Amino acid sequence: MSDLRFDVVVRGGRIIDPHNGVDVIGDLAVAGDRIVAIAPTLRPQATSTVIDATGSIVCAGLVDLHTHLYADVTGFGVDVDDAGVNAGVTTAVDMGSTGTWFFRGLKAQVIDTAVTEVVAFLMMGYVGASIRLGGPNILNPDWADAESLAAMHELFPGIIRGFKTWGESGTTSQWGYRFLQMGREASDLTGLPIYIHTGELWMVDESNRPDPATIMPEVLTIARPGDVLGHCYSAMPDGILGAGHRPVGALRDALDSGVLLDVGHGINFSFATARRMLDAGFVADIISSDTHGLLSGIHEDRTLSYSLVGTMSKLLALGVDLGHVIAGATVNPARVLGMDDEIGTLTIGSRADVVVLEPRRDDWTFIDPTGGTHDTNERLVPSMVVRAGRPLVPTKRYLRDVCTPDERGETDPAIAIGGRPR
Ligand SMILES: [Zn+2]
Repeated sequence: MSDLRFDVVVRGGRIIDPHNGVDVIGDLAVAGDRIVAIAPTLRPQATSTVIDATGSIVCAGLVDLHTHLYADVTGFGVDVDDAGVNAGVTTAVDMGSTGTWFFRGLKAQVIDTAVTEVVAFLMMGYVGASIRLGGPNILNPDWADAESLAAMHELFPGIIRGFKTWGESGTTSQWGYRFLQMGREASDLTGLPIYIHTGELWMVDESNRPDPATIMPEVLTIARPGDVLGHCYSAMPDGILGAGHRPVGALRDALDSGVLLDVGHGINFSFATARRMLDAGFVADIISSDTHGLLSGIHEDRTLSYSLVGTMSKLLALGVDLGHVIAGATVNPARVLGMDDEIGTLTIGSRADVVVLEPRRDDWTFIDPTGGTHDTNERLVPSMVVRAGRPLVPTKRYLRDVCTPDERGETDPAIAIGGRPR
């Protein structure tokens, strides 16, 4: 090891890398933007930056499969680096803020300027979620097509990693399953996965409201292995758990075939639904946050009360194993993106995106967006991030579920909280 240069040494942490089956106490070293060594003890050089991770978890930089980052166009988009590196997330996926028309804007304004790595799932409609600009509503299947989605992917294959579509009551009441079929078509043209939003989202045409029990069976006939069902712990009656509080029978078969479940926390995550789903044996494959601002607001992020590390901590508190929780926010989403040779892993030679998670062991109560609560004695708080080899201290501004306002340096009483000391 003595001839290796170490720019950064992360020392003495519990190194957990589910991708390689690693769970050891030791040191991790970085040179340039690569991970170069993991060993019980590594000797830093005079020029190395040393990060003390004693008592903390060291894992691959977190990959958040579901965020909304196009703040200047969608209104509910949030600050990219506050949702990213400042929250322990080194790769964030913009989940359908834009369709083909405004994708280049997302790239220029967000992807090309952020410290956080950002990739995207394109939305079906040409306009994406920029629907509150006024005028006639052109966010509908007549203003969308699979060919243009595939063509955009051909132009930006490194950034566009999938397509966002819907299996929920609003779109179904208005247009049947046209958007879902279109997602399937775009997927077939490109080989990329689709991410299916489940649980009511769009405005429902009440004269044509579908029976909520019919939605998931239909969705499962269209979903394929590698596709992702979003919002698996949502309280919505047309969602994955459903109004009858039991998942449809076809769900187990779909998951066994390789369809994936994602938490997609957002404003509909409910502890009650999560407990029922976990009791029935449905553990999410992927843990994502669905970080966004107020849907009807313009750059209003004070309503945001949840985060990726908070969602991970909630699943830990519900009894999900630590290794599974870390896989759900590292290698599993990296595989969906087709990027697991580079991110979501601590493989020697892969990109040096790393996070140090400090387990805070004290009495804490989580509050979910439906008002449900859950007590815990452990929450994960990112204390250091290495992004492509560069160490930085996260501000934690959006970590309103795992940190007190003091710890985030905020005093505005209008800022939502998602957890508090007990
Ligand atoms: Zn979302």
